[in-house]
Amino acid sequence: MNKPGKVYLIGAGPGDPGLITVKGQDILRRAEVIIYDYLANPVLLDLAPKEAERIYVGKRAGCHHYPQEEITRLLLGKAGEGKRVIRLKGGDPFIFGRGGEEAQALAAARIPFEVVPGITAAIAAAAYAGIPLTHRDYTTTLGLITGHEDPARKLASLDWEKLATAVGTLVFYMGMANLENICEQLIIHGRSPQTPVVIVRWATLPRQETLSGDLTTIVGKVRALNFKPPAVIFVGEVNSLRAELRWFDNRPLSGRRVLVTRAAEQAAALTTALQELGAETVAAPTIEIIPPESYAELDQAINGLGSIDYLVLTSVNAVSTFFDRLTIQGYDARALAGLQTVVVGPKSAEALKVHGINADLMPEDYRAEGIVALLKDQVFGKRLLYPKAALARNLIPAELSAAGAEVLAPVAYASAPPADAAENLRQALTERLDLLTFTASSTVQNFVDLLDAEHLDLARKVPVASIGPLTSETASKLGFDVVIEPTYSTIDDMVEAIENYFKQGI
Ligand code: SAH
Repeated sequence: MNKPGKVYLIGAGPGDPGLITVKGQDILRRAEVIIYDYLANPVLLDLAPKEAERIYVGKRAGCHHYPQEEITRLLLGKAGEGKRVIRLKGGDPFIFGRGGEEAQALAAARIPFEVVPGITAAIAAAAYAGIPLTHRDYTTTLGLITGHEDPARKLASLDWEKLATAVGTLVFYMGMANLENICEQLIIHGRSPQTPVVIVRWATLPRQETLSGDLTTIVGKVRALNFKPPAVIFVGEVNSLRAELRWFDNRPLSGRRVLVTRAAEQAAALTTALQELGAETVAAPTIEIIPPESYAELDQAINGLGSIDYLVLTSVNAVSTFFDRLTIQGYDARALAGLQTVVVGPKSAEALKVHGINADLMPEDYRAEGIVALLKDQVFGKRLLYPKAALARNLIPAELSAAGAEVLAPVAYASAPPADAAENLRQALTERLDLLTFTASSTVQNFVDLLDAEHLDLARKVPVASIGPLTSETASKLGFDVVIEPTYSTIDDMVEAIENYFKQGI
């Protein structure tokens, strides 16, 4: 007989993947089987090993309702095979998630299990809507209640008489189908009709929506707007604090969908900054960094570093590739002792610093033009090494050679569109986009090359943010409407320009 495996009932949190616990995340990383629900964010599955088996038991797949007995049988079966089974549930596993029943079945079958709590929808939605569930000036009591999505059950089991006035803040899960009944019962049993009600749907996700009213008006508003589940309903005076404490859905980019075409390894700074401002970012990289056809030229230059006077690094990629090759050749940072290091901007400077080297020179204008201006009067008779991108312009070699320098410009890295780029782009364009972002001419060119005429037409209707004049020029030539270009060509400045653009209420 197999040694029995173990089942982990893990709360995935309410939706925002950042709201899973560290412990839940660690266990997911070692999963062998994951059985997950509709409300557990599928992005979390990416944490698990590629070979882990993923089984969806949500209710939304063609409205097929996976019976609870079947889920339990699956849990017992997989654990019986000796597997590490993760049962990933939305919110907290023990709050209206049948986690209790599943744990009972495991206990009865003597299968070892652990329960990892999660942030339940009520707690999360309250935080993200700006509603403190308890507050000394309002109430010290809180009730979590299921409203039954099934109207046939008529909420008969609830003792409204006691519930209506005994608890200050009431939170109803699965209550949308019964909202009218809930409001009626609360009023009949003594709750003030003017009690504020707030409903939050898809809490913590960029598509979170919130509706406010009171026990008499909320039903009409829900109908008028066709406001749908999944949603939690807050009833209580604490709701009035939202006006003062709202923070999530009134940020400068709240409700905006922004496409990020930057290479996946480099997109984090842009994506995080945009999300922090409230945007929903859609990742569709049109470029990825690949090795050059050959490193021979770069390697040869590295072997002759002793005769180089200036090392010019114009991107983070150039820095990382240069040091990779330096290491492979058996050298270390000391090989740079006698030369001047020149970087294009603060990011390259930072990347260089990681290798223990301070940049000696950096232009004020963070572009090739800036480097030329900075160096042209001091490089006469000097040797420069400029490890470059395959597609880089010839500006630096041409101008600095003209200024009397000898410039070695080996190709250090190349780029190409990722294999799934076209499909990702088409997918991104099926929903409304408020902005496209381009951080290099190559990302624009690839974008155009990847799409068919129909999708390209759609894309050209979306305003564009470009990182600088060259990218803007390429984008404009290719038919895009460039509305944002920062004064300095950095990600931070680009994000600030995007924020300012949308602040004008466009
Ligand atoms: N175990 C879950 C609840 C499952 S019951 C938890 O602890 O959160 C399903 C109900 O949870 C939904 O009908 C809805 O009322 C609520 N819910 C779950 N996720 C939600 C979200 N992101 N936004 C609003 N309501 C949510």
